[in-house]
Order: sequence, then C-alpha cells, then structure tokens
Amino acid sequence: MGNKNLNLSDRLYDYLLSVSLREPEVLAELRQETAQFPMSIMQIAPEQGQFMALLIQLMGAQKALEVGVFTGYSSLSVALAMPPEGKLVACDISEEYTAIAKRYWQKAGVANKIDLRIAPALETLDQLLASGQANTFDFAFIDADKKNYPNYYEQALQLVRPGGLIAIDNVLWSGRVADPADQDGSTNAIRAFNQKLHQDERVRISLLPIADGLTLAMKV
Ligand code: CA
Repeated sequence: MGNKNLNLSDRLYDYLLSVSLREPEVLAELRQETAQFPMSIMQIAPEQGQFMALLIQLMGAQKALEVGVFTGYSSLSVALAMPPEGKLVACDISEEYTAIAKRYWQKAGVANKIDLRIAPALETLDQLLASGQANTFDFAFIDADKKNYPNYYEQALQLVRPGGLIAIDNVLWSGRVADPADQDGSTNAIRAFNQKLHQDERVRISLLPIADGLTLAMKV
C-alpha cells in the first residue's frame, strides 16, 4: 500500500498497517474509488484517518470543522467517530470531488452529521465567525491550499474552544521543507507556517511524522 509515509520502509509500513489498521469497509471502498484519480495523493492515509478518529473520541468532540474535503476520507473518518448528535462543517470548492464524498457519507449513514459548504473556505469560516460560532468547535482539520494555511489557521484558532484541537496536514511536504534548494511557493508557505506555529504561544503543539506530517495544535 505504502509510499505516502515519510520515514518507514514499505515493508515496515505494511507491517504497521497489518497490526493496527481497522479500516471500516465503507472507508476501504472510498479509498479504492479515489485511487483512480491522479489527485488521489491528496487523500489522507488510512492510519491517519484512524488516528484522527481516535482523537475525536478521546476529546469527545461533537463539533468539528474541515478545510479541504476532496473525496471525503477524512470527513467520513471524523463523522463516524462522532456521536449521533455530532456536527462537522466541511469546506471545499469542488462539486465534482465532494459529490463522491456525499455518496459515501450517505452510504455510511453519517450524511446528517455533515454540513458541506461549497465556497472558498475563508468565506465560510468568516461566516461562521460572523454568526457567533467563535470558541464553539472542538476540532478542526486543515488540509487545503498551502498558501492559505496561515489564514485558515487564524480563523480556525478563533473558532475552536480553549482546549480544542487544530490538526494541520502535510506539514513535512514529502520532506521538501527540509531541502533548502526547494523554493517552490507551497514549500515556502509550509516552511513559514511551521516556523510561525513554533513561536505561537496561543497553542501547545506537536508535529507528528505520520503520513505526510501532521501538526496538532491545542488552543490554550
Ligand atoms: Ca493532505
């Protein structure tokens, strides 16, 4: 299965999955269907979905936010982990990819937990703030265009409650962040974002080398 993990040989990664992955059938089907797209690399790794589901249950999260849905693997993982009254506001701009997501949310019986907003996420997050939802989210997952990471993060930080968690994906960017010769715009954006977070005393952080790098930031 491998190749999306940064620091494990394929053999060790396969072993990790063989002794820990408990992927619900509906998620396995979604992963299979998504594999046909050239953009399928944008899908989170299955062990990351399982990890985020564990976080949701540890926190007892009932209100979550997602920036960047793609075909819905992460939103489905999160929604399945939340109680029946749980709500996930999911932001994306693609009707095409989220049509697949919606099909699987239905199939898994969690469509009622997910409020999909098709619009630039910065607008949706502004609307949530304008409607008085600051400090009400337990969990936020940011996994969209890298140049806007600082903006998504600032809005998410207002939207999550103290003690709430923001998870930010792709922070190790296939290792490219550590290669000074790589001056790509997205690479530089992630570098700058990582440095900003390192200094940010509004959060407690941990950067996990799971999948493509996942930073957890808990709002103080
Ligand atoms: Ca990602």
